[in-house]
Amino acid sequence: MKKWLVFLSVFLVLTTILFCINLFKTNEEKKKEKEQEIEEKEEKNTIEYKANQTIRVKFTKTGEIVAMDMNDYLRGVVPSEMSPTYNIEALKAQALVARTYTYRKLQAHAEGDDADMCDSYAHCQAFYPKDKLFQIWRQKGYDEDTILEFWDRVNTAVVSTQNEIITYNGECIKAFFHASSPEGTEDISQIWGGEKLSYLVPVESKEDESYSNRTSRVEISYDDFLNKLKENSLCKNYTKEDMKSITISDYTISGRVKNIQIKDQKVSAEKLRTLIGLKSTKFTIKKNDETVVFNVVGYGHGIGMSQVGANYYANNGMDYKEIIKHYYTGVEITKLD
Ligand SMILES: [Zn+2]
Repeated sequence: MKKWLVFLSVFLVLTTILFCINLFKTNEEKKKEKEQEIEEKEEKNTIEYKANQTIRVKFTKTGEIVAMDMNDYLRGVVPSEMSPTYNIEALKAQALVARTYTYRKLQAHAEGDDADMCDSYAHCQAFYPKDKLFQIWRQKGYDEDTILEFWDRVNTAVVSTQNEIITYNGECIKAFFHASSPEGTEDISQIWGGEKLSYLVPVESKEDESYSNRTSRVEISYDDFLNKLKENSLCKNYTKEDMKSITISDYTISGRVKNIQIKDQKVSAEKLRTLIGLKSTKFTIKKNDETVVFNVVGYGHGIGMSQVGANYYANNGMDYKEIIKHYYTGVEITKLD
């Protein structure tokens, strides 16, 4: 019995020693790994900021990956994100935004090891190959001469801004953009919470009054509204009568709606926007007997460059650099070499 106890004690002491050595080792190894990771990242960063990179584009529908040079990639992005009918200076601004956004994404390695960007507008940036763009324009009724002119404009926008990116303190900015903010743009920290970025703050956005989505309206019955909320596990035990208590609870600093309140349930305006298809969170509420009406101004999240605004400023004499510096406060335009 005693012998057995001695064996057990020796065994315990030995395992403890081994465990400690191991712990020490793993800490050391972890440190090394981290250092290596940082080194690799630094190496990657210098690679990623290099001019004229090759971009491997993943097509989300087929899973196919196609490698192309940066300019070819941007020729497919710019007219997929902005109408080629817009002023050339607005298209150049979009090219700069798209290139900056791409470099930023490259740093994040959002597509894993096999690809750099995908063609989804929701995940990366919209991208259509040239033949698909021509097909879309034909379907919209444009003649061949106009289509060739569009392509020429896109090419000019990309090539004349080649290797230029938007930077703040030497770093690629988060080049967010949206369609329209006729009453001014938004502070990023007000919409997605947390991070405040001094180049993404509210600025004035003059826009063409003829833009079709400048204002819009959604009318929904209290019943339908309640069903939509319940489908998303909100307002579970509410009745139609409860829905009539809807009010705006609070606003962002640029005057967009931050939250709405229905009885004791708060719903973020961003959530509401996708839930019932509002074009933006800049809205007022009008309550009727059976329905509620949302009168909406602008289109999109409101952060960074407004495309309709970019076109307005371009039509009124600003060049693309002035447009970029108007929408992104305090930034520089850097040419990579
Ligand atoms: Zn993606």
